[in-house]
Amino acid sequence: MPLTIALDGPVGAGKSSVAEETARRLGILHLDTGAMYRAMGLQTLRLGIDLTDEEAVSRMAESLRVDVRYTQGAQQTLVEGEDVSGLIRTPEVSMAASTVARYARVRQVMVDLQRRLASEQSMLVDGRDIGTRVLPQASLKVFLTASAEERARRRFLELQAKGLPDTYEQVLEELKKRDDQDMHRAVDPLRPAEDARMLDSTSLSFEEVVDTLVAWAREVSP
Ligand code: C5P
Repeated sequence: MPLTIALDGPVGAGKSSVAEETARRLGILHLDTGAMYRAMGLQTLRLGIDLTDEEAVSRMAESLRVDVRYTQGAQQTLVEGEDVSGLIRTPEVSMAASTVARYARVRQVMVDLQRRLASEQSMLVDGRDIGTRVLPQASLKVFLTASAEERARRRFLELQAKGLPDTYEQVLEELKKRDDQDMHRAVDPLRPAEDARMLDSTSLSFEEVVDTLVAWAREVSP
């Protein structure tokens, strides 16, 4: 039985970076499911499909080939064979991902693919609905959060480092809007699984969060 760790939480809680380091220390792969929704969002924008047209977006999702590949442990996200990893981190794609992620048929395509990937090998999977929907039988479920202001501060520094022009206020506003959309959608909204362990990282360092996750994973490892 592969070891599966479900890591969920809101925008900017630091899931991706702590997931990557935790998976590296545990010697397992990290699946960033947000990147897969981002790939869908990117493709919707590129094809000029109206993001609010559920039928058109769902049809596109059902015919689109999204794949995940690993090179030296790092995930690459592919759309129709093209590596789009470098194109999916902009604020525009973030919002598009969150909008198309509301649709049941889009989620079904993603959930099936994520379950297949996690059944093949041990993985740490991060997202919004991993503990509640994708892998309800996961060996360990963690809900990682932090205050909205701290999450916005971290996200702002990340965007600044990439040379993007967004202000802290814009980042905070976008983050609250996306959280609201993710928590209040009808299908698989963002919420902790009943048996998830809660981890508030507001006043924890990156290393402290990773150490906690590694210790919890070792507790449940067969
Ligand atoms: O985690 P990240 O910010 O990259 O995710 C982008 C968007 O994809 C989220 O705002 C959310 O709407 C959606 N998502 C989701 N379910 C997941 C992962 C991401 O709905 N498992």
